[in-house]
Amino acid sequence: MQLYNKLSAKERAALIEEAGKQRLTLSFYQYANIGNPQILRNHLFLAWDALEVLGRIYIANEGINAQLSVPAENFEAFKKHLDSITFLENVRLNVAVEQDDMSFLKLKVKVRHKIVADGLNDDTFDVTNKGIHVDAETFNALIEDENAVLVDMRNHYESEIGHFKNAVTPDVDTFRDSLDIIEEQLAEHKEDKKLVMYCTGGIRCEKASAYYKHKGFKNVYQLEGGIIEYTRQVNEKELENKFLGKNFVFDHRRAEKISDDIIANCHQCGEPCDTHVNCENEACHLLFIQCKNCAAEMNGCCSDECKEINALPYEEQKALRRGKHNSNKIFKKGRSEVLKFKK
Ligand SMILES: [Zn+2]
Ligand SMILES: [Zn+2]
Repeated sequence: MQLYNKLSAKERAALIEEAGKQRLTLSFYQYANIGNPQILRNHLFLAWDALEVLGRIYIANEGINAQLSVPAENFEAFKKHLDSITFLENVRLNVAVEQDDMSFLKLKVKVRHKIVADGLNDDTFDVTNKGIHVDAETFNALIEDENAVLVDMRNHYESEIGHFKNAVTPDVDTFRDSLDIIEEQLAEHKEDKKLVMYCTGGIRCEKASAYYKHKGFKNVYQLEGGIIEYTRQVNEKELENKFLGKNFVFDHRRAEKISDDIIANCHQCGEPCDTHVNCENEACHLLFIQCKNCAAEMNGCCSDECKEINALPYEEQKALRRGKHNSNKIFKKGRSEVLKFKK
């Protein structure tokens, strides 16, 4: 019995290419009480590995959060397997707008303390007392209401390349930070304003809406299924699309184009651009926005220093890193003094 991934990403990429099968990128989550996450973990790994499912799945006592790539021909079997698990029966699957057969190259099912790193102490409030879920059509009407305040619950590097028109986009690095900022800004309006929130796939709003209700907000709404499901409904029902730019996603595609607007700028030259890259210097790996011209000029690096290091033979780079911890820039996504045009 094999309970862990055997192939390297490279071997997997070659296999996927060779197989030439179409794959679907999708995600789902569910809050539920899971008594023994490790047993569920092993059960899912065995079943999904057999179906050639790839992706990153977190399981905790509080639930499951999964981002996957499934061969199209195995989709029905996969769905059937999900339905065989009581708390996952008919769970909403968010199917990606832009498909990419290489979105995931390994199956990683991990047991975690939490399914989202939210920094919240769950004992203080009732997470099942959520906001009102709204679909795309209701959401479109709701955000035109002059008493509505629309809040983006994602981090700065996500909302930078795409967000809803007129949304408040807190300049934060973590979910926890944005909770406080919003509460402070709306402290006077807990009863009279409608707090409308959204995130990538809806999972962050599940907690955030319950948190705000706990904090005394009377009218809390959340976009069901997030930007991913909104886009699907807008396309299917031919609704007006009120989202500008790209939806940042957490697989190697990095983003899905939702509208043709480019609302961000290259962090190095300021030209309109919304393409995220990671600095080519492995010791840096900073996430930032870089246009094609700057990528060519800087060899994909974020700074002259990184460019110099990256040009050294690999052994010398390794020697430089010895004894040093990884740069904390990895955790300061898209923030660095060298990026002149980062807003
Ligand atoms: Zn540039
Ligand atoms: Zn760098």
